[in-house]
Order: sequence, then C-alpha cells, then structure tokens
Amino acid sequence: MISVVLKPQREKSLLRRHPWVFSGAIAKIHGSPQPGETVDIVASDGKWCGSGAFSPHSQITVRIWTFDRDEEVSPSLFRSRLQRAVKSRLHLLEKYATNACRLVNSESDFLPGLIVDQYSDFLVCQFLSAGAEYWKQTIVGQLSALIPNKGIYERSDVNAREKEGLPEHTGLLCGQEPPELVEIREGLNRFLVDIRYGHKTGFYLDQRDNRTIVTEYAGNSEILNCFSYTGGFAVAALKGGSAGITNIDSSADALKIGLQNIILNGLDDAKVINMEGDVFTVMRQYRDSNRRFDSIILDPPKFAASRGQLMRACRGYKDINLLAIKLLRPGGILFTFSCSGLVDKDLFQKIVADAALDAGRESQIIRWLHQATDHPTSLNFPEGSYLKGLLCRVW
Ligand code: SAH
Repeated sequence: MISVVLKPQREKSLLRRHPWVFSGAIAKIHGSPQPGETVDIVASDGKWCGSGAFSPHSQITVRIWTFDRDEEVSPSLFRSRLQRAVKSRLHLLEKYATNACRLVNSESDFLPGLIVDQYSDFLVCQFLSAGAEYWKQTIVGQLSALIPNKGIYERSDVNAREKEGLPEHTGLLCGQEPPELVEIREGLNRFLVDIRYGHKTGFYLDQRDNRTIVTEYAGNSEILNCFSYTGGFAVAALKGGSAGITNIDSSADALKIGLQNIILNGLDDAKVINMEGDVFTVMRQYRDSNRRFDSIILDPPKFAASRGQLMRACRGYKDINLLAIKLLRPGGILFTFSCSGLVDKDLFQKIVADAALDAGRESQIIRWLHQATDHPTSLNFPEGSYLKGLLCRVW
C-alpha cells in the first residue's frame, strides 16, 4: 500500500478537514508514489486520516480528495463532486441572468487544484496541482458529459504549476477552438472575454457583485478606474449614470477590449478616457496636477504571492490607497480591493486606515466587499477567501 505517515500530532488540521498535508508534517512515505497518484494518509498512531494526491515537488505534499474511508478515489468521486458543484451554481445563473460563472472553485468545492469557469458555450479549466493534472482526462470527459458546451479550453499558465513541478500549458482539451472573443451576459450587461490570452481564465467573474455596487454608486460621478483590465467596472459605472470614467491599465490589449465592451453595451465612448500606463505613475501625475475625482476604484493584481512578499505588498497597497485618497474630492467614494489571500481583512483595513491617516483625511467604511457567490469558501479552508474590498467614504 502506498501511504504517507505523519509525525506525531500533525493530523490535527486533517481532523478539522483542512485538505493540505505539508512536507514538514510527514514522517515517512511507504512505496514510491508518482506525482498525482493517490496515497493514504496515516497518523503516527496508525489511524487513517484521508486519501489524497501526492505532489513530491510541492511544499503541499498531499491534497486530500476524501476524508471518507469508504469513498474510493476513482472517476465516480470526480463525477459526484463535479455534479454537486455545478448543481449548486444553477440558481446563480438564473439569479444573475448570466451565462458566465465559476463552476468549480478548487479546494472550496472539494476538488483541490481544479478551477472550471463557464463563458457562454465554452468551459475554461485550470489544473493547478499534480492531482488535478493526474485526473485531467477523467475530469474533462465528465465535464463534457455534464454541461452542454462547444469546447473546453485549458488555461494552466499560472505560476502555481511550477511549485507542483508541472510545466505551464494552454490549449484546446476537446470540442471547438473558442473564437477570439466570447460574448457573455451578466444581467443587462454584455462583456467580451478573451479565453485564450486574457488574464486568469479570461474575465474577473469574482467581481460580479461589486460591479453591481459600482453601478449603484456611480450616478453623475467622475470616476478613476485603476487596474481596469477589460473595463468590467467601467461598463458598470456608465450603466449607473457616471459622468465619465478614466481607466488606467498597463495592458493595451485589455484597454482595447474595454472600449469594445463600452460600445457593445450601447454606452457613450466619449465618456471614457483610456490611459495605458503604470497606475502609480499616473496617479502621482494627477496628484501633482491637482486632478481630482468623485470616486476611485483600486483593483490591483495580487501583490503578495508568498509570505516573503508580504511586507512589500503592504507597502504597495498603502501607496496606492494613499494616492487614491489624496485624489478624492471631499465626500468621495473609494472602492479598494486586495486579492492577496495573505493579506487578511484586518490587515487590509489597517493598511487603508493608515493611508487615510497619512493623507490627513477622515474616512468611513460603508461596507465590506467580497468575491462573488460562485467563488464559495469551504468553512475548513479559510485560504479560499482571497478577495476582500472596502467601500469607503472619504471626507
Ligand atoms: N478590475 C479588473 C481586474 C483587474 S486585474 C476587472 O474588474 O476586470 C489587474 C489589472 O492590473 C490587469 O489588467 C493588469 O494588466 C493591470 N496592471 C498590473 N500592474 C499594473 C500597473 N502597475 N499599472 C497599471 N496596470 C497594471
């Protein structure tokens, strides 16, 4: 039998159904499991704790597939997990009148390392762990059977793969090649998604609920949309009656799709200014030239990918928030986000509070913002709550 024996007391997190076994917790490995192969996890006293996927190159040596001894890690496990995840999204597609949704959210849907996003008739997958990679063909076959689709595309071009000893990979997994841009709908809005070359799997589905809130607050205001990508917030803001929006992003391709999205939604592109450049630099220029805004959205990329980057990331968040607060007219609205899982809510609030203090401005939290509901968090996997945001009024 291939098994991984833990050091004394190191089964505690597994008993709480946290799905990771770190290399430091392992006393002994019986047999020679291949990357992705299923292994049993056994406590130092011999008690069976779960079975999961072995990943020799990662610090997370095993990701648990099941804590149930009677459940075999076989195609039927994947079928029932996928069915459950997809079924739990059906009401969301209706509620949000959308055809774009995260169908599988990795650990939080009890399928560690697997992301599946739907964009209209196409599915996009990321296989982020050795275990997900090992079961790829099974998963793709079952997704095909479960969800009517024109094609399934892989976007496993993420840094996390390197930690698992896997090369980056993108390409068609089955069906038709997706068109250059796939159109999705979200309520009354339409968006173009670049499945093949866009960020992540193509679109920021996780900001869906926050787009609605931006619409609510946009009336007549002049908005600065930092890290705008393909302008999800810009469409939302103009739909809400914004007087004008300035998008800043370093990607010319993203800004270009952003403009197409404005036109696709029948909105006035004369109200949009696109600035291709570095947010920090452009905001400093605005500060120095006394340019001011009624609302500012800050949705930067992940600044902290590892603990070692945390201090630097905090300084980055503080800098952009400080600049943004200075650029707001009194009574202005700040939407500020962090998608770094390592920056928790308390730390993020402290960073934004420090920025307001340094700017000499008073500020109130109107509400906390979160990832959309198709990105659930398993109660036993707090790491799954990565996106946090604050909606603040700044005086
Ligand atoms: N708000 C967007 C998602 C933002 S993702 C949405 O809701 O769709 C982060 C974006 O920041 C990416 O488009 C990336 O191109 C851009 N970016 C990263 N670093 C940047 C920088 N220093 N200056 C400007 N844009 C940057």
